[in-house]
Amino acid sequence: MSYLVFARKWRPQTFDEVMSQDHVTITLKNAIDTGRIGHAYLMTGPRGVGKTTTARIFAKALNCENGPTSKPCQTCDSCRSITAGNHIDVMEIDGASNRGIDQIRDLREKARYATVSARYKIYIIDEVHMLTNEAFNALLKTLEEPPESVIFIFATTQPRKVPDTILSRCQRFDFRRIPVSDMSEYLKREALKEEITLDSTALSLVCRASGGSMRDALSLMDQLVSFSGNDIKGEEVAKLLGMVETDLLANITSGMLAGNTSEAIDQVSSALAEGYSVDELLDALIIFLRNFLLTVTGASNSLSDVPESERRLLLEMSEGLPDVAVLNILRILSGAAIEVRRSSLPRVTLETAIMTASKLSRVFSISDLPPVAKRFIEKREKTEQVTSPEKEISAIEAEPSPAEKHQLKEEIAEKNEADEATADITEDKDLKQKNTADDEIDEEKEKKTSQEVLGLFDAV
Ligand SMILES: [Zn+2]
Repeated sequence: MSYLVFARKWRPQTFDEVMSQDHVTITLKNAIDTGRIGHAYLMTGPRGVGKTTTARIFAKALNCENGPTSKPCQTCDSCRSITAGNHIDVMEIDGASNRGIDQIRDLREKARYATVSARYKIYIIDEVHMLTNEAFNALLKTLEEPPESVIFIFATTQPRKVPDTILSRCQRFDFRRIPVSDMSEYLKREALKEEITLDSTALSLVCRASGGSMRDALSLMDQLVSFSGNDIKGEEVAKLLGMVETDLLANITSGMLAGNTSEAIDQVSSALAEGYSVDELLDALIIFLRNFLLTVTGASNSLSDVPESERRLLLEMSEGLPDVAVLNILRILSGAAIEVRRSSLPRVTLETAIMTASKLSRVFSISDLPPVAKRFIEKREKTEQVTSPEKEISAIEAEPSPAEKHQLKEEIAEKNEADEATADITEDKDLKQKNTADDEIDEEKEKKTSQEVLGLFDAV
């Protein structure tokens, strides 16, 4: 048997095998089972998430000799030839290489003829956004008065480039990126069938590198099997991809947060010695810090694509840490990422940024102060009036619960809105003067509090 790449070997053949796109497949299955078949469909979404595959399964379901059925038999001539890609009434056209008016005119001519053997004549046009305006106009005429048994299925990664006149005649299905958890489970299962084993780091790295595209993940699997045989380890994946390992990123970050400049710089040096470029290391650090910041702020919904092992690590690291500290480092490194691309000495730029971040990770301005920290200070001020050193420490350590944080944020948002509303309604001069006076007092107070905060976090 000839060698088949995983992307082809593991290609889903039924609606139920299409991964993480239930919102699409369920609708299509229902449409077939209830006989509500349209003339034009548009499949949109990132590359490698199942658009064309679903289009082929849909074609199979419509033309199965035992159908139309949402569960095509896979064994009749029609099913088998669609699987093999040589069904005479199911045409797959690449929009990028057939983008001109002549090709679409030709398609229109042929669409008029009855089907050769099947129930429907189906045109699957991939990358349809590549068609020229004239080609779209020609296509539109066919869509306005489609021949009885013709069905168009368009696929595109860029629906915005498809004219509204075409869009409005299609049933649209938006495909999503495949979540890391689904992809990871699938790869592990399918790999086992082929007697390929991947350790958990390898699995995470493959999923992350794929960016939610199953096709990319499978191509990578092909490459990995050629590179390291049937036993795939995390370090090998990292090497092949030029990826920086999570532990290394965590060590650099911890060094910066602890204000341990030499530790952070040493870790950077060893990463560069391993062959990572300054750009690669900096980009990886920025993404790591972004995930870290989201963890610290509790926005864990945005971390669904981050591997479980990394999420656990971030959660451990985030304990008791003010989000401003991470935010400061992230800002400094993001600035460095722009500078590095212009610099003739990128390594120096990176090292300077790491040093600055180590020094400044605990310093921030009062305007950046999160509500949580404001609350620390208020509590501190209150306890100071009671004047008991033990109580002071316990007040500083009394971290508000996530629910309290949330409520606090809402209160502040409400207050801001209310303030704006008041400012809009009133033009009263006296009030304006009062506000100015208040502002001055606030500023005074802020200066005082700012110094206290710095002292507070230095002391931590
Ligand atoms: Zn069949």
